Amino acid sequence: MNNIYNKMLDFAKSNIQPYTQKVDEEAKFPVDSFEAIKKDKITGLIVPKEYGGQGLGLEEHTQTVLAFASSCATTGLCYMMHNVATMCIVAFGSDDMKKEYLPKIANGELLLALAFSETGTGTHFYNPEITVSKDGDKLLMNGRKSFVTSALYADFYLVLSNSFDAEGLDNWIIQKDLKGITFEESAWDGLGMRGNASMPMVFNNVDIDISNRVGPAGSGAEQVFNVVAPFFVIGLGAVYTGVALNACNTIIEYSMDRKYSDESALCNIPTVQNHIAEIFTKATSAKHFTLAAAKSGANGDADALAQIISARLNASDMAVEVCNKAMKIGGGTAYAKRITIERLLRDAYAAQVMAPSTDVLSIWLGKALTNQPIP
Ligand SMILES: Cc1cc2nc3c(=O)[nH]c(=O)nc-3n(C[C@H](O)[C@H](O)[C@H](O)COP(=O)(O)OP(=O)(O)OC[C@H]3O[C@@H](n4cnc5c(N)ncnc54)[C@H](O)[C@@H]3O)c2cc1C
Repeated sequence: MNNIYNKMLDFAKSNIQPYTQKVDEEAKFPVDSFEAIKKDKITGLIVPKEYGGQGLGLEEHTQTVLAFASSCATTGLCYMMHNVATMCIVAFGSDDMKKEYLPKIANGELLLALAFSETGTGTHFYNPEITVSKDGDKLLMNGRKSFVTSALYADFYLVLSNSFDAEGLDNWIIQKDLKGITFEESAWDGLGMRGNASMPMVFNNVDIDISNRVGPAGSGAEQVFNVVAPFFVIGLGAVYTGVALNACNTIIEYSMDRKYSDESALCNIPTVQNHIAEIFTKATSAKHFTLAAAKSGANGDADALAQIISARLNASDMAVEVCNKAMKIGGGTAYAKRITIERLLRDAYAAQVMAPSTDVLSIWLGKALTNQPIP
């Protein structure tokens, strides 16, 4: 295994794991973990070296998200979205835009987030309804994004809109405190991913500058399908593989610690051994599949997109199955929330609905495998 995975596992053990229970119980954004991520400049993992970053790519992104999510799914998800937004600037930003943002991202000064989804188009976030219109010299953005992870905690948001001067979509980098931006501040009270601080973001005549458009006019869809798709879809595969690995490790440890009056342990029961073997096999194969798909994407293999989608689909279903089985192994103790499996099961349920949802992605996979255009 590449060094970065082990290095990030060590980082997560010291800087993510200690806060993960509190993040879930209090539904609080993992502020302490992100302070450490910024301090160690892991925000700049995929920023090119010429801008002060580490110059790494899809494989290391996947390994890092997997390592973080093996401690805390929320932290893995928020970090993953930061990298996706960063990659849009790396791949499509003008030289001036790169010079302005990338050194600060590499330095740990800036955290980014994605404001893509809208109520009107739901899981099909690549069909935004938000508008940008010309008003004299001004460009005004109007509309509402329905779920914005890391809201209030990120410094800049990538916002997908209809283009005002071209066919198709534009992707914008928008500062949090521009006049006219408000967040519908109700604490995120989701079933799981409890620290992700997702909330709606409203744009009311927000005066934006043309220099904040990422890439050429109308290139938003190209960014979504060529940059966001690989980094985000494999990132989700990594987050939910991390959840399953966490459940697997937690329940294996518990099964050895849980003793009966005759001094035998839970793990001495053959049925439990079967269950453990099954979930270990599932979680481990998802880990290898996810990492291999990322490698395939980094190599630019012809079937890379199919592999990436497939790895994400596999991880999403597998995470729920592994957590369900771990709940069974953990008995009443797991149900009573005395071990953390129930939290992981709640986190795992998000995998199927995060856009593009598993139902939508499986249609895309069928299309990709039969040479049909996506979406
Ligand atoms: C924890 C969490 C964090 C999030 N963070 C962000 C974020 O940071 N930024 C962001 O932009 N968004 C974010 N989202 C939003 C997310 O990515 C989806 O856009 C959102 O969950 C869609 O919800 P909806 O109720 O509108 O789904 P709907 O679109 O109403 O879909 C409901 C169901 O119908 C299915 N469905 C819909 N259309 C089809 C179809 N054509 N074929 C087959 N099935 C279909 C879906 O798969 C889903 O199961 C987040 C969501 C969650 C849960």
